[in-house]
Amino acid sequence: MSPVTNTREIHLASRPIGRPTQGNFRLVDSELPELRDGQVLVRNRFMSVDPYMRGRMNDVKSYSAPFRLDAALDGGAVGEVVASRSDSHKVGDVVVHQLGWREHAVVEAAAAATVPSDLAPASAFLGALGMTGLTAYAGLLKVAEFKEGDVVFVSGAAGAVGSMVGQIAKAMGAGKVIGSAGSAEKVARLLELGFDAAFNYNDGPVLQQLQEAAGERGIDVYFDNVGGEHLEAALSTLTVGGRIAMCGAIAQYNSTEPPAAPRNLAVAIGKQLTMRGFLVGGQRQHSAEFRQKMAGWLADGTVRYDETIVDGLENAPQAFIDLLDGANTGKMLVRL
Ligand code: NDP
Repeated sequence: MSPVTNTREIHLASRPIGRPTQGNFRLVDSELPELRDGQVLVRNRFMSVDPYMRGRMNDVKSYSAPFRLDAALDGGAVGEVVASRSDSHKVGDVVVHQLGWREHAVVEAAAAATVPSDLAPASAFLGALGMTGLTAYAGLLKVAEFKEGDVVFVSGAAGAVGSMVGQIAKAMGAGKVIGSAGSAEKVARLLELGFDAAFNYNDGPVLQQLQEAAGERGIDVYFDNVGGEHLEAALSTLTVGGRIAMCGAIAQYNSTEPPAAPRNLAVAIGKQLTMRGFLVGGQRQHSAEFRQKMAGWLADGTVRYDETIVDGLENAPQAFIDLLDGANTGKMLVRL
């Protein structure tokens, strides 16, 4: 017998058009299925809200399947095993899995990765030591092929991925790290985290602010979390042979119109630029190396991480909406 029979979960009630609203979501009480052999029951403690979920709310074919209407949403979560019918997992294990947006989850043991909970608080396995950390690490080092001395520009720099990109670049010997973010407080935080320069993209044109920060030398690497005007400014500022890791385009996730920028893509020809899109799912082979390096950087203080934590499953839709609006510094999480 499972110790609990019911849980609460968030369903997608309707597909957002443009910016999501509370009305697109519904809190639902539901019965948990009986545990079968090979399954574990997890009490979720933190769930992740991530920008990619916005794309899954649209009914369009993409790299991950759309969320179904009137069914629970899913996504990264961490919690403890409270019942197990698997030899590989015992009660008390802390596991990361993909059945977030609910307080309890019945998970196939094979899909619940036990994490070394002595290494860091459980929430870190959704952020710095988890998916967003790996995105930053692999995107910078493997996709953009970062080299010591490179001048790196990262947008969305105060967010989960961006704040890791900048700090990893510094740790690996970047010539200079420049970040952009949407408020003066975030810019101040980036400087505290060791970024060499940072600007608020709301203060003026991105191109002008980036070129002031980069100087004559320009930038070697652009880690793109935003797209649009940021990408256009980076294309104009990259040096010959520069590299772009195309990670995200959050400036357009809520838009109902096609993006107006970049208008200068052809500069990639003369500058012999490399632009590579990537998905973290295609970078899992670097997980062990990443985990080991990041654990060391966190332990010796080279890398620090911020979390913005919202309490309660019922507040998860608002946390997601606020994430897209930039309310978070570091990883946006919901404590359950
Ligand atoms: P963040 O923690 O960076 O949160 C999103 C941030 O985006 C907000 O805090 C906000 O910060 C910023 N933002 C929102 N709207 C705009 C806008 N119009 N222009 C500029 N910035 C904006 O999220 P993540 O770190 O989880 O994700 C960052 C990016 O990486 C996203 O694009 C995401 O889709 C992508 N990603 C891609 C992965 C992949 O496999 N390719 C995996 C994980 C993430 P601000 O206040 O600065 O505006």
